[in-house]
Amino acid sequence: MANLLKRMHLAGLCLCAAFSLEAQVMMTQDGRPMARIVLASSEETNREAAELLQDFVGRISGAELPIIETKKLKANDIVVGEPTDRAGEDGFRLLTEEGRLHIQTGGDKGALYGVVDLLEQELGVSCFTADYFRFEKCPSLTIPKLDRAETPAFRYRQTQSYSASDPIYKAWYRLEEPNEEFISNLWVHTFDRILPSARFGKAHPEYYSFINGERRPGNHSQWCLTNPEVFEAAVHQLDSIFAANPDLKMISISQNDGNNTQCACEECRKVDEYEGSPSGNLVRFLNKLAEHYPDKEFSTLAYLYSMQPPKHVKPLPNVNIMLCDIDCKREVPLTDNESGRYFMQALEGWSRISNNIYVWDYGINFDNMVAPFPNFHIIQKNIQLFKEHHATMHFSQIGGVRGGDFMELRAYLVSKLMWDPYQDMDSLVNHFLEGYYGEAAPYLRQYMDIQEGALLASHQPLWIYDSPISHKDGLLCPQLLKRYNELFDKAEQAVASDKDRLDHVRLSRLPLLYSELEIARTRTDNDWEAIRQKLELFHERTAQFGVKTLNERNNPPAEYYTLYKERFLPQAEQSKALGAKVEWILPPAKTYQPIADKALTDGLYGGTTYVESWVGWEGKDAAFILDLGEEKTFSTLSTDFLHQLGAWILLPKSVTYSISSDKQTFRPFGSFAFEEDRDVKVKFVKGTATSPSPVKARYIKVEIETLGLCPSWHYGVGYPAWFFLDEVEVR
Ligand SMILES: [Zn+2]
Repeated sequence: MANLLKRMHLAGLCLCAAFSLEAQVMMTQDGRPMARIVLASSEETNREAAELLQDFVGRISGAELPIIETKKLKANDIVVGEPTDRAGEDGFRLLTEEGRLHIQTGGDKGALYGVVDLLEQELGVSCFTADYFRFEKCPSLTIPKLDRAETPAFRYRQTQSYSASDPIYKAWYRLEEPNEEFISNLWVHTFDRILPSARFGKAHPEYYSFINGERRPGNHSQWCLTNPEVFEAAVHQLDSIFAANPDLKMISISQNDGNNTQCACEECRKVDEYEGSPSGNLVRFLNKLAEHYPDKEFSTLAYLYSMQPPKHVKPLPNVNIMLCDIDCKREVPLTDNESGRYFMQALEGWSRISNNIYVWDYGINFDNMVAPFPNFHIIQKNIQLFKEHHATMHFSQIGGVRGGDFMELRAYLVSKLMWDPYQDMDSLVNHFLEGYYGEAAPYLRQYMDIQEGALLASHQPLWIYDSPISHKDGLLCPQLLKRYNELFDKAEQAVASDKDRLDHVRLSRLPLLYSELEIARTRTDNDWEAIRQKLELFHERTAQFGVKTLNERNNPPAEYYTLYKERFLPQAEQSKALGAKVEWILPPAKTYQPIADKALTDGLYGGTTYVESWVGWEGKDAAFILDLGEEKTFSTLSTDFLHQLGAWILLPKSVTYSISSDKQTFRPFGSFAFEEDRDVKVKFVKGTATSPSPVKARYIKVEIETLGLCPSWHYGVGYPAWFFLDEVEVR
């Protein structure tokens, strides 16, 4: 563990209570060791805890405490890892007694977290990221009289941070990973890993969902849970999984990702109707497994179509319900808007029939990770709600990527609150801001507070698939963008001489910069030179700070930079379709009709989120005529499509162009057939046709053939596929 403290920050005066009258245990004096770290047993966690304590005491005081195993205790000994019944799993008790300090464990990692608590509370060490700790150096360390015990509010605590691969950070934030709890990392969306459709689908299509008139085996299809052979096949697979993994007892048997893909065969539907929710079939199936393997614990998802609890069947104690609030909006706590209340109804229902609930909550913008996501005012209230409704396990999904909105603060807060949701939130926020940003903290606090107020005042929901563009008249309106930039300018000035903190401020400024770029591409009246400079700065800073992705689909900033120059900055040659009138033959889905007349020929290109600029068709063909206003000469026709599998947006089959001078007789111009693309990255794909020599025409007919239903490899198996079109180009 010695090489793990990369950067240590020392500041201020030595304030530690070297000669306190209350001192019970003297750890070091004038840089010399006074205490011994005594292992209560040779368990690995105790050794890890002892080494962490030794390491930090060394850094703070310069003294190296020995780590020993002995039964003969002396004064000032620090005994690590005795069991206590005053704390539960992962909990600890810190107790001074007869001149000794006892760091006792309630089980599992208790001793390690006891050491972390001692370092934080008594020795003043703060950990902000894996390579940014702060504490004051002090050669003489004493511990006052202590007797406190803590047990975490949730037995399992999971979040995301780029720092979490560092073992000290992970211990400090008291985090767990699925592979430490779930057999073979089978923790979510496991149906297709347990009975792969690729292996069983051909011989046994009846194992899989009946959707829209037929069995549709596929990796996003589900199981036919009322088929007894599916239970037998699952047991057969589980026997060998359990035999190969004797150390863990928990496993997830859960639906594949995708909505409304549950089996709709007659038997399954009957149960769904009786139970009032597709979760009925899942709980019945899981209960059978839980009875068959009473010493194992089975987790299943209550997610999308299965979120609401069943009316009759109750999960057995060794069935865990992983409940996800993915569809909720985030501008207010879950109790305070409609989508939240629908989730609360599910949470209340499940909490009436289960004490074994795992809540998966979302504090992330999947499509625009490096964008403001001002939900700090709801985090604590929501975690309290989970705790009060029998959640014992919690995953706070926050993305955790470099450049994510206040990612470091976010990880700190959710980790603290998963341990104890009733701490003073303001103190936690201020402690982090002051340590991590130093003199810049007040400006960043103002920035956060203004965003919170502006979001609430705008009455615009905060969504996990938002685009900054959705907020361009609200929390990201021009006046506020200006104000935010002034605050960041002041913040940067305040820490200009502290390189680390200047970097922290600049890293946290990226979401603002990204928002400005995104909003600029929806306007035509920009100062393009200023936008070009912002783009260069964004490019430079994302590279400097190692920002790897801008969204859940792993689109990197370097790609954004190139795309922005080619797609969004004004181009030398303009399309001859600019401003052309559109006449509909097969119009788009209703939601998109209000923007459709202008969006295809306004010269503004859609971005990676389908919520702006894009015009969509759901499972249907498209056809329209473009009126250029007069005869024009051109040789290339092109249409621009969005590829975003996660949002059920697939490319169409083909696009066909024909042209006319009188709108009566059309002659073929050309066509383009799209290839199937299973890549999860977001892409813009053009369907281009070129004539060998220039042609003359006023009217262009565009006909697009849909894929129809989503294919079996896709989340939307058996349901209509969307395609989204933006600009039509004539060159
Ligand atoms: Zn079925």
